[in-house]
Amino acid sequence: TAEKTRGLYKKPVDFTKVNKNQLPTVVLVGRPNVGKSALFNRLIRRREALVYNTPDDHVTRDIREGIAKLGDLRFRVLDSAGLETAASSGSILDRTSGMTASVLARSQFAVFLLDVRAGLHPLDLEVGRWLRKNAPGINLVVAMNKSEALFDGSGSLMTAATEAYRLGFGDPIAISAETGLGMQDLYESLKPKLEDYMLQVLNNEEGTAEDGSSCDVEESKLELQLAIVGRPNVGKSTLLNTLLQEERVLVGPEAGLTRDSIRAQFEFEGRTVFLVDTAGWLQRGKQEKGPSSLSIVQTRKNLMRAHVVALVLDAEEIANSRRSLKHDEVVIARQAVEEGRGLVVVVNKMDLLRGKQLFDKVMEIVPQEIQTIMPQVTGIPIVFISALEGRGHADVMHQVIDAYEKWCSRLSTARLNRWLRKVMSRHSWKDQAAQPKVKYFTQVKARPPTFVAFLSGKKELSETDIRFLKRSLKEDFDLGGIPIRIMQRSVE
Ligand code: GDP
Ligand code: GDP
Repeated sequence: TAEKTRGLYKKPVDFTKVNKNQLPTVVLVGRPNVGKSALFNRLIRRREALVYNTPDDHVTRDIREGIAKLGDLRFRVLDSAGLETAASSGSILDRTSGMTASVLARSQFAVFLLDVRAGLHPLDLEVGRWLRKNAPGINLVVAMNKSEALFDGSGSLMTAATEAYRLGFGDPIAISAETGLGMQDLYESLKPKLEDYMLQVLNNEEGTAEDGSSCDVEESKLELQLAIVGRPNVGKSTLLNTLLQEERVLVGPEAGLTRDSIRAQFEFEGRTVFLVDTAGWLQRGKQEKGPSSLSIVQTRKNLMRAHVVALVLDAEEIANSRRSLKHDEVVIARQAVEEGRGLVVVVNKMDLLRGKQLFDKVMEIVPQEIQTIMPQVTGIPIVFISALEGRGHADVMHQVIDAYEKWCSRLSTARLNRWLRKVMSRHSWKDQAAQPKVKYFTQVKARPPTFVAFLSGKKELSETDIRFLKRSLKEDFDLGGIPIRIMQRSVE
């Protein structure tokens, strides 16, 4: 992705190789008719665009999102055009500010568009004030659009630029979204900013950061990707709808999009949660009752894109059978863990259990079986809910977020080695004399937490030793329920 020296990514960054979910987000802002949609269309060309419909004051507003291509730059671009055109009177920005603020919160960069032919409009100043107030940290480029007629060297561009300075957001650039003039300038002003951002993200991802047992700032800006999986009819849609009803919702789809590109996202307690392919069951599920198993191939694909997986089970089925998990559910749970994802088990339809006996049975056998099928990960969170009655869904989200934060954990080498000295004296080695010596211990990666034990000599740690280290890490650093990886290297 970028040149790497001594474990650190350096410029130049190859944006075409960056995982889409990690790309920086640029939002296009400006009063109506300045050309946001025109610029959006130019940036994404014919690529897929997602449209989120957001019911607000009984008006539907659209935010389009797509992957922009500008030379060798790639970024996620949001077009906020639908926001203000829907508002009819009063201050446009006030009426939509809740929504726009959540869009801004997801964006690290903004392009503030002006209509150069109209001069500086009072609404431009209002947009500027609003941005200062609501997005003080956003990295912004001012672009004077519709400049094609002014590229004639007459000096009128300079006059316009002088006016645009009054906004106080630095040097404006001149562009024409319609003709494509000035795209090179847009590229040059965005490139260093996006590149710096990307390096930070990539280097964090690679584990060069210092201490901190939760996500650091840049990382936590990467949205939490959640996959809700389970067999048909366990209540996935019901759970999702309950979650979406309470929170501000942004849901696809739009004509012309493939089914696979349908995504949804929502805010939960101030955090953006991105749902990984709900299309599989959200759309198909209803019409086709089909087989009662889950597509393992499709689900696996989704697991790979998710950070945390919520596996939904049916409490009534469990109560009526001896085993709590069906074969395909076991396979998916194991895959989630093997792929290094955070796992949250959701036992739904608890309202259908009549009597304490059934209740107790379910509460007892699910944790037992989870422990049996995945002995390597202790403490996987299990939440008992009734999606239909709207009970427990917030707990699901708390566990999901908790798993995500643990999954992002970073522990400094200094702290780990203090820990290592203590923990080694706790471990009862099988054969004291023949025990391998762990010289030091370091975290090389987060998401999921991955550690390397450096050993002196050729002797390797046994399975038991590794299990002991994992268990101790979990207990001492509160990392329960998420997969942890430990590798070993010998240092002579
Ligand atoms: P939005 O409301 O900010 O999304 O603005 P639109 O993209 O819908 O554009 C508003 C109007 O300006 C449309 O009629 C566009 O064709 C026109 N427009 C957009 N960009 C340019 C440009 O670069 N030059 C000219 N002359 N017109 C433009
Ligand atoms: P999906 O196929 O996993 O998306 O399942 P649905 O959400 O469509 O739910 C399947 C059926 O189970 C529907 O009739 C729901 O009303 C019902 N259901 C979902 N959650 C609950 C629950 O918590 N309690 C009860 N009693 N029924 C539920």
